[in-house]
Amino acid sequence: MAVKKSFNVVVNSAWCKGCSLCIGVCPKNVLGLSERLKAEAVKQEDCIGCRQCENICPDLAVTVNENLNNQEAK
Ligand code: SF4
Ligand code: SF4
Repeated sequence: MAVKKSFNVVVNSAWCKGCSLCIGVCPKNVLGLSERLKAEAVKQEDCIGCRQCENICPDLAVTVNENLNNQEAK
């Protein structure tokens, strides 16, 4: 039975400098820049948990968490 995983991408806006590296690296276009020029998840539901955004951020501002309430697909 396939398990559908979901993820929660959190940006610490105090640390984000709006360089857009995470936005450019995301293969699913999950991230965008807010009006305050901070990265934010705009399509959270499309995240596949590859963690490229987390790894590329020079300021360690991105955290990708796997949702713990993932249920086995029925
Ligand atoms: S890579 Fe880091 S600092 Fe740059 S926009 Fe993304 S979260 Fe902000
Ligand atoms: S974990 Fe991967 S898919 Fe999810 S926001 Fe980061 S780069 Fe995009």
